[in-house]
Amino acid sequence: MENYIVSARKYRPDTFASVVGQKALTTTLQNAVKNKQLAHAYLFCGPRGVGKTTCARIFAKTINCMNPREDGQACNECESCQAFNTQRSFNIMELDAASNNSVEDIRLLNEQVRIPPVLGKYKVYIIDEVHMLSQAAFNAFLKTLEEPPAYAVFILATTEKHKIIPTILSRCQIYDFHRIGVNDIQEHLQYVAQSEGISFEPEALNIIAMKADGGMRDALSIFDQVSSFGEGKITYKGVIDNLNVLDYDYYFRLINAFLQHQSSEALLLFNEVLNLGFEGMHFVNGLASHLRDLMVCKDARTLSLLEVSDSIKLHYQQQAQSCDFNYLVWALKLANECCLQYNVSRNKRLLVELCLIRLCQGPESVQAPQPLASAANAAPRPAASAPAPQPAPQVQTAPSTNYSAPQPRVNQAPPAAPKPTASASASASAKPGAAHRLKTISLSGNKDSEQSKEETEIQAVVIEENQAFSEDALVKVWNEFARGLKDNPQIMTVMTNNRPVLKTATDFEFTVFQAYTEKSLLELKVNIEAYLREKLHNSHICMHLRISEGEENKKALTPQDQLRTMLEKNPALVDLYQKLDLTME
Ligand SMILES: [Zn+2]
Repeated sequence: MENYIVSARKYRPDTFASVVGQKALTTTLQNAVKNKQLAHAYLFCGPRGVGKTTCARIFAKTINCMNPREDGQACNECESCQAFNTQRSFNIMELDAASNNSVEDIRLLNEQVRIPPVLGKYKVYIIDEVHMLSQAAFNAFLKTLEEPPAYAVFILATTEKHKIIPTILSRCQIYDFHRIGVNDIQEHLQYVAQSEGISFEPEALNIIAMKADGGMRDALSIFDQVSSFGEGKITYKGVIDNLNVLDYDYYFRLINAFLQHQSSEALLLFNEVLNLGFEGMHFVNGLASHLRDLMVCKDARTLSLLEVSDSIKLHYQQQAQSCDFNYLVWALKLANECCLQYNVSRNKRLLVELCLIRLCQGPESVQAPQPLASAANAAPRPAASAPAPQPAPQVQTAPSTNYSAPQPRVNQAPPAAPKPTASASASASAKPGAAHRLKTISLSGNKDSEQSKEETEIQAVVIEENQAFSEDALVKVWNEFARGLKDNPQIMTVMTNNRPVLKTATDFEFTVFQAYTEKSLLELKVNIEAYLREKLHNSHICMHLRISEGEENKKALTPQDQLRTMLEKNPALVDLYQKLDLTME
């Protein structure tokens, strides 16, 4: 390793032709040299590592070349070129304004500018990170810039063009450097690997190129890091392990989970990713990119926008075939919303999970409810005439689309509404329209409540108490009761995540979102009331259940509310939630 030179230096381009990914720009510079149309000041703007300083050096070398070629390139052989190539030239000065930003530094520079070149025609001053100069330094520099000697050329480079004062901007020719395309970087890495005799997998170089985010310098330094780690071999596995890059594979699996409505699978995948140490934001961003890439695959014309290596491209195309375009658009929108909300969210994990669950459920296709035979045993409801019912959490963003699920599990159900898993679904899923009517349940005609009356009467005889209590006290005791429901986690969750509301001195109302929950709570009514009556020393406490109307849910559903609704609909999620030891804030 004694003679080890980092690739970014060893493979730094030394001619305009060898600069990667900035073709338009280098051609313009080359033409300026060829036509002898030189300005005194240039401003090179653009992100870090995209070739600003490199181009400045090549430019300096080219305009000083004693035998420039006809196409405007340096000969690379004359004395001046040799001096440049071996970093011995006195005609190039580099000042890093990030660390030399005082007036004094600029005064020194101004003095140097007065000394004409000994060899060659031009002296080139490269001022890197020029936006870092202090105000006073800027002003001192401005004088030199206004009246430069004929042999002086200034190349100012900056990553932050907006910080350059207008008086400087107006005196410079401005060149905007862009991020280098993934394919360009990948090709260059391939060239370097081949020159160095390093074996590589194309996917691995592709990941490096993407990770570098348009910067060749970063790409090459990652390349060095990975190749030294892999002892001369660059593999896909080595790269993703080394770079903390999330394997494509997670997203392919995730999309499959969406398509098959497997929210549990999606949540577990997310958990796995978090356990690998990835940020939730990183995960959602990756998901959005993946969805975007799938979308791009749907049209042959946009296929070129997919910047992945060929073998993975095939994988994308295959998955894209099983996705409906409208679904992808919808999903992308959802993922994007999740990204936007991420930083302000107090419960980030929940936010992402909610997004995943909704992606699994799919956009709601607007259909009339389909009365099922099993609905007959439910209380009479005007189900058929209910206006286009939709489970609450999905309404906000769902366009009406045909979301084609490859494995529809239950034929009678609308394909886009994933059903709660078998065990608890019978009563819940039978009445999709039930959740949308506001109704206070009267218990008088109910068989169960007949029993409860009897029991209440017995109790009432035993102790007759009438102590006043506050709503907070009620909530506290309510939650105590709920927490005792260890064998019924779903109801426990429902109860602890919504407040009972006191309507009179003794009667309170509790809102549920699903008929299924309503039924379960009715079964518990006697026990709940008995518990409350005892603890609050009031024998007249009475619970009323209310099924919330779809419209009302829609308006102000917090993520917590939405989750609760989903939990109510899908008991399997409750299990999962507890297995993962999750909480709601
Ligand atoms: Zn030359």
